[in-house]
Amino acid sequence: NEVATMMDVPVTKIISACMSLGMMVTMNQRLDAETLAIVAEEFGYKTEFVTADIEESIEEVQDKPEDLKSRAPIVTVMGHVDHGKTSLLDYIRKENVIAGESGGITQHIGAYGVQLDNGQKIAFLDTPGHEAFTAMRARGAQVTDIAIIVAAADDDIMPQTKEAISHAQAAGVPIVFAINKIDKPHANPEKIKEGLAQMNLLVEDWGGKIQSHDISAKVGTGVKELLEKVLLEAELLELKANPNKPAVGTVVEAYLDKGRGYVSTVLVQAGTLRVGDYLLAGKNSGKVKAMHDERGHDIEEAGPSTPVSVLGLDGAPQAGDKFNVFADEREAKQIATKRTQLQREQDVRTTKTLTLAEIGRRIALGTFKELNIILKGDVDGSVEALTDSFQKLSTEEIQVNILHKGVGAITESDVLLATASDAIIIGFNVRPVGNARTIADREEVDIRTYSIIYDAINDLKDAMEGMLSPEV
Ligand code: GDP
Repeated sequence: NEVATMMDVPVTKIISACMSLGMMVTMNQRLDAETLAIVAEEFGYKTEFVTADIEESIEEVQDKPEDLKSRAPIVTVMGHVDHGKTSLLDYIRKENVIAGESGGITQHIGAYGVQLDNGQKIAFLDTPGHEAFTAMRARGAQVTDIAIIVAAADDDIMPQTKEAISHAQAAGVPIVFAINKIDKPHANPEKIKEGLAQMNLLVEDWGGKIQSHDISAKVGTGVKELLEKVLLEAELLELKANPNKPAVGTVVEAYLDKGRGYVSTVLVQAGTLRVGDYLLAGKNSGKVKAMHDERGHDIEEAGPSTPVSVLGLDGAPQAGDKFNVFADEREAKQIATKRTQLQREQDVRTTKTLTLAEIGRRIALGTFKELNIILKGDVDGSVEALTDSFQKLSTEEIQVNILHKGVGAITESDVLLATASDAIIIGFNVRPVGNARTIADREEVDIRTYSIIYDAINDLKDAMEGMLSPEV
């Protein structure tokens, strides 16, 4: 509509111009730069983009090498369920008390900092598991510097152990293995190391380069040494950040507190965040009214690699959202509003029900092919991570649509939806229940179940390649 007004042509003509490009659009829809250029040309206009994209108005200060100071590593703990991730995080939380402080960490804010006897610090993300890690990464947030992967010595290398390894590797994050539960009588750490070797992951004892330490998260054996190895790994990474600039970082978690309003835990990645700063975090903004650390203490400023709980945002941003500091509140607010608007438009565009309009859309698209998916998973984190990965597989020729997604087993109604919409069903750590399988067989609906995210993604990729039109 805006373009139509600018060029003084009826909006219907713009819509049909878009249709001829294979795009079904509504009049309130935003066009990408390329489409704008082509459409404008069709009406004899040349496009020139004068106002920078809203996101580009967020200035990133370029650091000079001498401005960079070393910073603490940010660590995520991953591994198979029940192998001891939470126990390890709890043990570290309880045992590590900042020098000169009495009392340990009293509050869960989603991340916490610890300081070892030698004064070196480590920041931990307090949400264990690779789902959280990948969900954040899916939002473009690479926060973790090092992954501790916990593997119980009284068990085998399990699917989620492997998955955690793949996730860390895919993110290019170095791994330190924590072979846990060595206090147990049947613990056999060598078996785990052997298993890792079979996966081409040679730990130090086995002549490799990957660090690993035998621990008991319950009793505390080896935890200190494990953390020393994490610091050694961090040294190799030469982690640095400029503390003397407006803060930038990532949201770790956020919620609404009845008494205090929105509370957001952020991890400062560079610069220094101060009380009184104007903050933009995802689609929210506000002035930092107060900050406190994981010990509940008020703090005035937070430098690189410091997790801090912030009061003052006008909503709860999502985990993985980036934050920036602005010189004035209005600008932060404007960008937040713009982002909300864009999201709303996006939502309108991606909501698809199987209506006549949808069928018409497919006909109009002609050669355009679509792969419809119904996605069910055991936990929200994996469903979100898969949704994001699947959507990223969309190409110019094939659009991947997640028609339905949810947590829980594959049910009859999923199969019915698939039948009605030529969709395939993908189950992650869930199976069909009741009559779902029988109906699926009858209706020839494809149900695929996985327990490893990467297998699901790879299979889908292959399927899409099979669907590609032959090269002319
Ligand atoms: P998570 O699912 O990976 O977070 O695992 P948890 O930390 O919840 O641990 C699962 C179970 O293993 C709990 O009952 C813990 O008490 C137990 N556990 C964790 N670490 C150890 C350990 O080092 N030794 C023993 N004996 N038990 C442990």
